[in-house]
Amino acid sequence: MASNGGHGQRRVLVLSLPFEGHINPMLQLAGALHGRGGLSVTVLHTRFNALDPSCNPELSVTVLHTRFNALDASRHPDLAFVEVPDGLTAELAASSNVTRIILAINAAMEGESASPSSPSFRDVLASVVAADGDEGRPPAACLIIDSNLRGAQKAAAGLGLPTLVLRTGSAACLGCYLAYPTLIEKGYLPPKESQLYEPVKELPPLRIRDLFYSKDANLEMVSEVLAKITETVRNSMGVVINTFDDLEPAELKKIHNELGDKFTVVLAAGPLHKLSSMHIGSSLKLRPDQRCIEWLDTQATQSVLYVSFGSLVSLDSDEFLEVACGLERSGQPFLWVVRPDLVRGGFDKACLPDGFERAVEGRGKVIQWAPQQEVLAHHAIGGFWTHNGWNSTLESISEGVPMICRPQLADQPLNTRYMEAVWGVGFELEGKLERGKIEKSIRKLMVEKEGAGMRERAKKLKNKVEGCLKNGGSSQIAIDSVDGGVRRGGG
Ligand code: UDP
Repeated sequence: MASNGGHGQRRVLVLSLPFEGHINPMLQLAGALHGRGGLSVTVLHTRFNALDPSCNPELSVTVLHTRFNALDASRHPDLAFVEVPDGLTAELAASSNVTRIILAINAAMEGESASPSSPSFRDVLASVVAADGDEGRPPAACLIIDSNLRGAQKAAAGLGLPTLVLRTGSAACLGCYLAYPTLIEKGYLPPKESQLYEPVKELPPLRIRDLFYSKDANLEMVSEVLAKITETVRNSMGVVINTFDDLEPAELKKIHNELGDKFTVVLAAGPLHKLSSMHIGSSLKLRPDQRCIEWLDTQATQSVLYVSFGSLVSLDSDEFLEVACGLERSGQPFLWVVRPDLVRGGFDKACLPDGFERAVEGRGKVIQWAPQQEVLAHHAIGGFWTHNGWNSTLESISEGVPMICRPQLADQPLNTRYMEAVWGVGFELEGKLERGKIEKSIRKLMVEKEGAGMRERAKKLKNKVEGCLKNGGSSQIAIDSVDGGVRRGGG
């Protein structure tokens, strides 16, 4: 392990997967550690989160065509940035095959260099560590990695650099991944159509349909990705989970028990976006549309439905049309995020129903990308129609906003199950998307008694979030432990 030096100062290296929902919580964890006592931070980033050259003209970076967002280094003058090889082709980076992307990045980070003229991930990491002491730079105490990056962890272990893992999903989700081999052994997976609503006895309240399973990738590939996550966790000095004690007490306890005493720490340090405002600069094309806040200012309190399906989920053009018609028919004010790649095959105005803009004028706003946390905190927002990505879920819970849930992939169905069956702050819009059903769901959430009950419970959860963030609150204590551990050199 790197030795302590330079007036007791330490430096932490952070490395995330290049997705919005992963890099933001990683930067927020880095920001919380940096803000706490000046811990130095070096952000290792893949080419596909290359620094945004429009923000820093000095840089000669080629941002290949990619769906990922570029980092805006000018927002973070206190941090150092180092680009690392990621093994992705432009074609793969532009695809939505997350499983293949994760496996390719791991292979590149674990392996040798792709060509004699370019350094391997291990070479770059070694040179970052070797620069300790240069220009007064404090030594690297540990590498904080996304739990998907087992390849990077192996490279770090080869250099004697300990790793701390960030899980950007819920504690329940990690519990599910740890149980995955057992679930396959017991025949729950691959799921059979006739058994989707049967309970998974080992993981209440989950049903078979709530388990992580991707139709795009075979069971072997999914198992490989999930096995990497659990291996990374088990081979680290600890795992930081973006959740909080009061939200998932039983699930956190289960993980502690499962990982055993040998394992150093399981820390629930979230919601991380409330501990630091650090986040990725939006991509060159998608800047958050701040004008929507002025528009929200003109709307009545708790009247607006915010609709967004995150950064990856997409819809068929038929589904998109049904969503538009449902929003129109609901009569409810709405703010709808329509990314250019939300509609498979591409979005243009012809995807919207005839006369849509006229019909919703004044009460409906469509934007390409929202300042989501600011939107959810706005008094005009009364509900969120979400895909239940964990960040969106946690951001909504943090502001006391109840949800209509439309999960599609990865951990989203599991999050929806907890929303409905455990926290009671949302309900699933199930089955084929159809305008009449959408209209009914919107009314249920925004104007009916059932929705009001969910809003009340959501406000109670918001209070719990505030409690864990107070001085002496559970997440503050968790961040202190991470900070202390890193300063002691990972011990
Ligand atoms: N987000 C945003 N503006 C938008 C839509 C999403 O800033 O218009 C952010 C959102 O606040 C969240 C992240 O993108 O932090 C999406 O992460 P999540 O885990 O919810 O979903 P994913 O994109 O990974 O499916």
